[in-house]
Amino acid sequence: MSEPVRRRVAVSGALGNMGRTVCAAVAAAGDLELAALVDPAFAGGVTSDFELPAYPSLLDALQVGGLDVVVDFTRPEAALGNILACVTAGVAVVMGTTGLQPTDLDEVRRAAEERGVAVFVAPNFALGAVLMMLLAEQAARHLDACEIVELHHDRKLDAPSGTAARTGAIIEAAWESKGLRRQVPIHSVRLPGLVAHQEVIFGALGQALTIRHDSMSRESFMPGVLLAIRSIDRLQGLTVGLENIL
Ligand code: NAP
Repeated sequence: MSEPVRRRVAVSGALGNMGRTVCAAVAAAGDLELAALVDPAFAGGVTSDFELPAYPSLLDALQVGGLDVVVDFTRPEAALGNILACVTAGVAVVMGTTGLQPTDLDEVRRAAEERGVAVFVAPNFALGAVLMMLLAEQAARHLDACEIVELHHDRKLDAPSGTAARTGAIIEAAWESKGLRRQVPIHSVRLPGLVAHQEVIFGALGQALTIRHDSMSRESFMPGVLLAIRSIDRLQGLTVGLENIL
């Protein structure tokens, strides 16, 4: 019997904290093939633990071809350009890089539909964080005051975090559906030693409800990243949020 075809995956940002963890997870997954690595440091002769084609730019990797999915964990300022480059090349994208603005997503949605390429964007790939957002939405149906505190390591470039922005938007939409127009204030903490943490705090007369999620290590994101890669073939256009593929 012939072997099932393994999806060929490139990791963009392969030498970063998340990129390294994604490379290890993809390489360990029997049904996926880690096929190419992309990171600007490859231009300076840096090598990786994997004996694989390594490119300093995503465009170089896309030009060589033969990729089914690009997983991107790079920098906020690179995210939109990287998605559009993949879409133009007809390669599906799993985007973990945060910092994409609503207008960026509109542009991605248009391009992905036009080209018939699947793009999956998740501000948070940890299952617990997705549940935190779903629980926050439920709470917002009953409680009308909320603030978010998001806490991350001190090298995180964007603030507020993509997870906090999305949680806030979900709560505001739940409020709006019952006629309440109000913004959720978000407080950002950046400290060494932290990974990724968030508290959604609802207050009401004489009581408070806190929903908290902690990612203790980057491995917490890997089941979600692998699920997104494995789900990409059945997606069309732009999909935002892990809750859509659980
Ligand atoms: P990091 O350690 O700084 O790694 C980013 C890597 O990408 C670096 O090696 C960087 O190289 C490289 N890079 C920069 N521009 C690039 C480009 N145009 N093409 C290819 N590679 C490029 O950051 P990180 O902690 O891994 O986080 C990366 C992103 O993932 C951030 O936006 C973070 O917020 C997000 N994140 C998302 C989730 C989620 O669940 N969605 C979870 C954790 C983190 P240089 O250092 O040379 O620039």
